[in-house]
Amino acid sequence: MTGGPVQTINGASAPGGGSFAVVDPATGEPFTRVPECTPAQVEEVMAAAEAAFRTGWRTSRERRRRALHAAADVLAAHEDELAALVVREQGKPLADARMEAMAGALVFRYYADLEVPPEIIQDDGSARVAVTHRPLGPVVAITAWNIPLIMACCKVAPVLAAGNTVVVKPSPFTPVTTLRLGELLREAFPPGVLNVVSGGGPELGALLTRHPLTRKITMTGSVATGKKVAAAAAPDLKRVTLELGGNDAAIVLDDADPAAIAERLFWGAFGNCGQLCIAAKRIYVHEDLLDGVTEALVARAERTVVGDGAAEGTELGPLQNAPQLARVTGLVEEARAKGARVLTGGRRLDRPGYFYAPTVLGGAGHGMRIVDEEQFGPVMPILAYRDLDEAVRLANDTAFGLGGSVWSGDPARAAEVAARIDAGMVWINTHGDNAFPRQPFGGVKWSGLGSELGPWGFLAATDTQVVYESRATGEPPSLIQTQEA
Ligand code: NAD
Repeated sequence: MTGGPVQTINGASAPGGGSFAVVDPATGEPFTRVPECTPAQVEEVMAAAEAAFRTGWRTSRERRRRALHAAADVLAAHEDELAALVVREQGKPLADARMEAMAGALVFRYYADLEVPPEIIQDDGSARVAVTHRPLGPVVAITAWNIPLIMACCKVAPVLAAGNTVVVKPSPFTPVTTLRLGELLREAFPPGVLNVVSGGGPELGALLTRHPLTRKITMTGSVATGKKVAAAAAPDLKRVTLELGGNDAAIVLDDADPAAIAERLFWGAFGNCGQLCIAAKRIYVHEDLLDGVTEALVARAERTVVGDGAAEGTELGPLQNAPQLARVTGLVEEARAKGARVLTGGRRLDRPGYFYAPTVLGGAGHGMRIVDEEQFGPVMPILAYRDLDEAVRLANDTAFGLGGSVWSGDPARAAEVAARIDAGMVWINTHGDNAFPRQPFGGVKWSGLGSELGPWGFLAATDTQVVYESRATGEPPSLIQTQEA
């Protein structure tokens, strides 16, 4: 096993105090080792990020524009290498991994050119009032294992565009691509601006989030970790953006065409092997369409090509890690014991690695963990409904609020139903599409706090400052200065 990429601290290689193994989910075997960040390196990296923030980096938008374009060029030039690394450590099909690399370059380019000018809210004889956006300082970016490359890029690009510096900590399950990203981008940014560190357990994230020099934490992961991050941020009132879990419902209305919707609905649930925060995780189908929709989805699941992400023609890779495979297996078993019918799949594949057959469950219902919890796997529980109000009530009967979709032959009717779903994103006749990178991405309720992407992602990496220039003379300052007519 050869050594993998190393950490980037202050623009230089930082091997770490030890190392931990990274497993290829297609084989279940370790394929490389990466550094374990030491507590001393945590101090070093935070000091480097703080020192870099105190330079001209935060004041020169033009300098940042050029650096972010340079980063996009590097990503585009290394697309093949990065995509191959994503396949190796995450397991997804090569085409999907390539999309991550392409989207990474796109998001750097978007934020290179995004202008968020000060807003002049008053400019008259009494005052000129400008609202400006100031960077915060060192930002800690913590990522999950399902879409490692694009997730890192979507955090780094807006944070740097706004004039902050960043310390990225990838998931211990998928640190390789992010570490390599740090190596590749060393030339693009001044030392200390973009740092990448890695650790095999939760301790490193905890140290970084508690660190007094950290001004903001942007984190993607589970609700449980999100709450710990929010608690770690509280004593210093650090800013936080949290992108957490989801349990998206898809509601199929009685006027949908099963044959027409099956392909999109299938991929809305099974894309990335179901390991997407915005995967459709519960499908509510009107009872009149139940047989047609179920048959179409079972047929699509049965012709899905499951295999090694690197192999030609693979549509669905393995689950990313052993605990996730155990979780999905357990949830399907529990649903079966409670009366759900496994219509296809429902088993681990008989081969090395963490492969699980695409699974459709009939007769699923609330009270089964596969419906009540975020499953994060290639499983589609189908729930029949008769009354639409009841379906909407059940769709909202969750602590999550990330996404949701409505499927219908009548988009106006679907839009009315979609507006009743308590979620940050709702789709009509699709699930998961994204006007990337311009559209805000974020959830409500326990699915998160704040939004990433678009100008919203930029603004979330800033604090507001009002610059009030008085043009009045001879009067005392007024707390309530109304605008001249
Ligand atoms: P996780 O919560 O276990 O870990 C996420 C990250 O937090 C990892 O880097 C982990 O090392 C780190 N971490 C763990 N403990 C920490 C602590 N105490 N302090 C700071 N950091 C700590 O999540 P996961 O299993 O890696 O990811 C799967 C979850 O991510 C799912 O719930 C999924 O829905 C969610 N997710 C959300 C979005 C979104 O945009 N809303 C996108 C993708 C994934």
